[in-house]
Amino acid sequence: MDDRQLRQSIIDHCIGMNASGLNQGTSGNISVRSGDAMLITPSATPYAAMTPEHIAAMPIEGEYGSWSGPLKPSTEWRFHLDIMRARPEVGAIVHTHSTYATILAIARKEIPACHYMIAAFGGSTIRCAGYARYGTQELSDVALKALDGRNGCLLANHGMIAVGPNLEKAMWLAVELETIARQYYHSLLIGGPVLLSEAEIAETMKGFATYGLQDRKADGERKTTRKKTTV
Ligand code: 13P
Ligand code: ZN
Repeated sequence: MDDRQLRQSIIDHCIGMNASGLNQGTSGNISVRSGDAMLITPSATPYAAMTPEHIAAMPIEGEYGSWSGPLKPSTEWRFHLDIMRARPEVGAIVHTHSTYATILAIARKEIPACHYMIAAFGGSTIRCAGYARYGTQELSDVALKALDGRNGCLLANHGMIAVGPNLEKAMWLAVELETIARQYYHSLLIGGPVLLSEAEIAETMKGFATYGLQDRKADGERKTTRKKTTV
């Protein structure tokens, strides 16, 4: 995708995450890596009125915090930028205040290995970062710590973050994170979950090397390639 298509894709995913109930209002924000820049949603801008030109661009390795565009970047640009700097494999970041993830974050509960899908996040827990005020460097610091070796985390009394190699995968993980949060919350109401062991999660993670949202193949490849399934 070229820069303009990436900008449009950010808007499409913002509209999609509000339409699905994953996010609400102008809470939440999305960023995507585009070459040596980070494209990020502007702060407090209704998604329906957003155009590709409104998306802010920030250099990933240039002057920290500098940006271009007609509107100020998201107040959370620090954790978006710090994640992009620290994790070269990350191509996109989704931050939402989705309801069940946020309920657990308000209770400051990490999500344990209550469902095998937690393996998609890189380990047997989805950690909850300590509290720091929105938009601060301190929030970025605790978020990066909670994301160490993981593709998602909760933010105390705030929401959640999901990261992926591209926006489709980051959004896929954001939906999965909210789903596990909802399932864990409800399991707590009926006596609490029976947790999977470290060995069971490690076993699942091996399968996850080849499981998950699939990258679309080029047309020619799709028609001719037949592979034996090992699932
Ligand atoms: P922005 O509108 O500045 O992106 O802020 C929303 C948010 O989620 C802050 O944490
Ligand atoms: Zn937020």
